[in-house]
Amino acid sequence: MRAIQMVDLQTQYQRIKQEIDAGIEEVISSAAFVKGPKVTAFQEHLEAYTGAKHVINVGNGTDALQIALMGLGLKPGDEVITPTFTFIATAEVVALLGLTPVVVDVEWETMNMDIESVKRAITPRTKAIVPVHLFGQCANMEAIMTLAKEHGLYVVEDACQAIGARYTFSNGETKQAGTMGHIGCTSFFPSKNLGCYGDGGAIFTNDDELASRMKAIANHGMVVRYHHDMIGVNSRLDSIQAAVLDAKLPHLNEFIAARQKAAAYYDDAFRGNNKLLIPGHEAHSTHVFHQYTLRVIGADRDALREELSARGIPAMIYYPVPLHQQKAYLDPRYKDGDFPVAERLAGCVLSLPMHTELDEEQLAYITRNVLDLIG
Ligand SMILES: *Cc1c(COP(=O)(O)O)cnc(C)c1O
Repeated sequence: MRAIQMVDLQTQYQRIKQEIDAGIEEVISSAAFVKGPKVTAFQEHLEAYTGAKHVINVGNGTDALQIALMGLGLKPGDEVITPTFTFIATAEVVALLGLTPVVVDVEWETMNMDIESVKRAITPRTKAIVPVHLFGQCANMEAIMTLAKEHGLYVVEDACQAIGARYTFSNGETKQAGTMGHIGCTSFFPSKNLGCYGDGGAIFTNDDELASRMKAIANHGMVVRYHHDMIGVNSRLDSIQAAVLDAKLPHLNEFIAARQKAAAYYDDAFRGNNKLLIPGHEAHSTHVFHQYTLRVIGADRDALREELSARGIPAMIYYPVPLHQQKAYLDPRYKDGDFPVAERLAGCVLSLPMHTELDEEQLAYITRNVLDLIG
């Protein structure tokens, strides 16, 4: 059996090596390392794939979120609502821009933003909601978009873990993660579902004006060369990464299918177990399984993780500490116990190996050992 890894990028590379190498070689031979034709080609292919009118490639997913909030022209003191159970990036860029992060609880089943908590968090200072499509399935976007409309708020989707997930609205319309709000952001970090071989990210929008503003912000606030109309940043996808991504994009649906197949294997093995809860599904979204995350109840999660590790099975805790309990973000507005679901999840979640190259032998070994250890 091949060694089990959380993410197996080597085996995936061996499978698509020719396409990747040809793309990289093309960039090196042309020496168009920055803003070359590969970047434009990938942008156009990603627009076609997602259905977003505009794709703006940037340096990474965190930059994408920052540029999105800068593009909305939010002012210090404006409040931005985001879930407390997620990766730090969202709250980080909100805080860096002098905006006020307002965190809300998540749902126990889907682990995504809880709508009742969002409703309670809206104040006259609220300007934007940043839902995170955690682990690969969309948050309840219908309810979020309705709330945003009622209160005149912007919605910036953090789709860093959910590229390719599809959400179906009650009118039958289906849209991709990142293309439902005013702006969507994604990351091409190597381990993400569409990952490059370094850092990368993208912003999606259907709004022409927002698109041109964010494009300028990502390029030093420059519209006409060396004329800076606004304060910007320097954030771009380099051509070698664009070549990797352009080679991988045609495989994205097959990558997603491989992840879903592995998730179905896990689900079948663990369904009905009274110490492990399989991931709950958001009814209106597909799940692209950036992570396969169990909730370990009535058993010692940390001990299970160590014992799995001793048997050659890596497992990770995404995320051990909710934002409101992070040292850098401690805030007198919040205290322990304020977000009970997020706090409970932080104590019980366990993500199993999830990638495109898991084979039956590995899946059988993982599930057999998890069940054996849980007793
Ligand atoms: C990965 C990730 C980010 C940040 O992306 P980077 O490319 O690493 O900056 C932001 N939000 C979520 C939910 C992520 O998973």
